Amino acid sequence: MIEMTGSTFTVHTGVSFDPKKKAFVDNVSLKIDRETGAIVDVYTRDSSAEETLSLEKDDIDLRKKIVLPGLVDSHTHVFLHAYKERNATEQMRDASIVERTVRATNAARAALLAGYTTYRDLGTETLGNADVNLRDSINRGLIPGPRMFVATEALASSGSYELRIENRLGQRLIVPRACDAADGVAGVQAAVRRRAGDGADIIKFYADYRRKVLRFPLTGPRPVRFPPAARRNPAVTMFSQEEMDAIVQEAHRAEMPVAAHTGETRAAIMASKAGVTTVEHALEDTDEKEETFFETLKENGTIWVPTITAIEVEADDVWLEDVKQRVKRGFNAGVKIAAGGDTGVFDHGLNAREMELLVEAGIPLEEVLIAGTLRGWEACGGDRSGYRFGWFEKGNRADIIALDADPRKDTKALRKVSFVMKDGEVWKRDGQVVTDMVVQLPRWSELKEPSPSPTLSDEWTELGDDQPTMTMSVPLPVFTGKPAGSD
Ligand SMILES: [Zn+2]
Repeated sequence: MIEMTGSTFTVHTGVSFDPKKKAFVDNVSLKIDRETGAIVDVYTRDSSAEETLSLEKDDIDLRKKIVLPGLVDSHTHVFLHAYKERNATEQMRDASIVERTVRATNAARAALLAGYTTYRDLGTETLGNADVNLRDSINRGLIPGPRMFVATEALASSGSYELRIENRLGQRLIVPRACDAADGVAGVQAAVRRRAGDGADIIKFYADYRRKVLRFPLTGPRPVRFPPAARRNPAVTMFSQEEMDAIVQEAHRAEMPVAAHTGETRAAIMASKAGVTTVEHALEDTDEKEETFFETLKENGTIWVPTITAIEVEADDVWLEDVKQRVKRGFNAGVKIAAGGDTGVFDHGLNAREMELLVEAGIPLEEVLIAGTLRGWEACGGDRSGYRFGWFEKGNRADIIALDADPRKDTKALRKVSFVMKDGEVWKRDGQVVTDMVVQLPRWSELKEPSPSPTLSDEWTELGDDQPTMTMSVPLPVFTGKPAGSD
């Protein structure tokens, strides 16, 4: 049992990364209020006094590790699991809500223990508003997980983002809906209002999609003969400029950020002009409009979330190399980039792969660390999110992680997360899970009288010997070289 005294404690760091200074800094200490889960003071220690630094009882000494702000994955799907295990269509069409929820629970835990204290979750993929409920379960202390900002269902125009089956005769075969379909200015405004009312934190819409895929289907009893060689199933623009403008304006009225799915740069340029916070992907077309794409994003301050890991998992090495080069060109052009893997396409808990790939693309490490912290906060809407996180400053959430290796020397350092704190609560320390999925068991003495509702710290970190609990051990995913693609 961990004894807690006082309302504040201090975390001492040796080397830590400061996204605002774009640099590693020495000897920073962070004073944390355990009641509010916020940083109440940040100061630099006098290096000459290091020998005599006296630690208070609850203080945490991370001076031998590399300390970072808690990481943000800017593009996740907590309700999807690795496609190598089951493809997207089957997960969306066939998997039970119970199994998907249980998997999401495990995914949230794995992500947190991997150092991801924030998830920007861009759609449940046929589970309606279940992400709202999962987010609230985490916030209520029922399960461990990142701070979640959720989109519920993405907006798409009619006949666009939906499960495609060839037998729709008579409309008797019902498949779950994959988006909140909306058309026209009034229609999309209403859809944004529905999402906000359903509890979403962020609006996601499909600016383009491979809507015409049933023209030359990829699946079926036998291959389609002689399909067009070029752009067999191109991503076509799904909303007019007026509709995109209306989505963003309505979202801003609701004080929400906006993410636009874009296969190709054409739709990404329109979305950026409409004022979206981020464009996702934009990797499917040729380089023809690339320069305009970069210029438009830069002009509008739009963040690009390229999701390179999803390409690595699903596509061939040639395309992956092209993608890396496009991302590097975007960075060189001055486009702001946030790290988001489209996590869910591969295992949650391996989120750091996206940051590794950004480094492999040739982006400097310091900029990649910004993409995984500060830029993630901006992608979540910045101050519109209601919180500050992604860097260390008085008033920010106390989200702190520590690595056992130095990312300046070890390209796999981001896999070596040995300490995780979110909102001032420690989940991992010295590489060990400190407070795991501790499920409080009922007591006979409380058969009639309801037990007083425990505070988070009571429930998670101050479990006395007389408190019956059960710790659930769920295996975490491990990196095994290059993630396997679906086959
Ligand atoms: Zn996605």
